[in-house]
Amino acid sequence: MIKMKRSKIPDFLKDNKKTWTDSFINGSTFTWHNKQKELLKLLKNMTSSHCAFCDDVLVPKGSDIGEIEHFRPKSKFKHLAFAWANLYPICRSCNGTKGVWFNKLLLRPDEKDFCFSDWFRIDPSTFELKPVKIGNPNWKRAEITIKLYGLNAKKTTRRQFEYDKIIINQYINKDHQPFRFMN
Ligand SMILES: [Zn+2]
Repeated sequence: MIKMKRSKIPDFLKDNKKTWTDSFINGSTFTWHNKQKELLKLLKNMTSSHCAFCDDVLVPKGSDIGEIEHFRPKSKFKHLAFAWANLYPICRSCNGTKGVWFNKLLLRPDEKDFCFSDWFRIDPSTFELKPVKIGNPNWKRAEITIKLYGLNAKKTTRRQFEYDKIIINQYINKDHQPFRFMN
């Protein structure tokens, strides 16, 4: 879950947000109004085409090109269904695991001062993500995020593979990039 910088709300969303939201609140079936592809592309631009939560790569021609996550689920937070700040690029695995669950403690990759290594570490023997507890009284937020998105569910083998590649290439980078799944 690498830090993500949110870009400006796209004009088409800004212009239509109220109409689309009202229609959804008034009982219309949810639709992206043929803007799903465009929206997903803009969201993926903010993560270099990675899942905003598990950091797995979302390749244009791969089996998982990515989906649009409603951080606060649209079933319970209808007024946020088209809120730009509520949308994230996500992989099928994370989206499927989270489903309609929500917890107000969940971490957002674009929240103020968010830094991966303040919250998460990789267990070198299992390659699972673990919450950083030392010096972090709010570590439960990381634990809940790992659990609700299933960040260890299908990712540990892939994580190890990427980690090994980094070691082999002696690619030492002090920022968070080594933890992101590469192409
Ligand atoms: Zn994911």
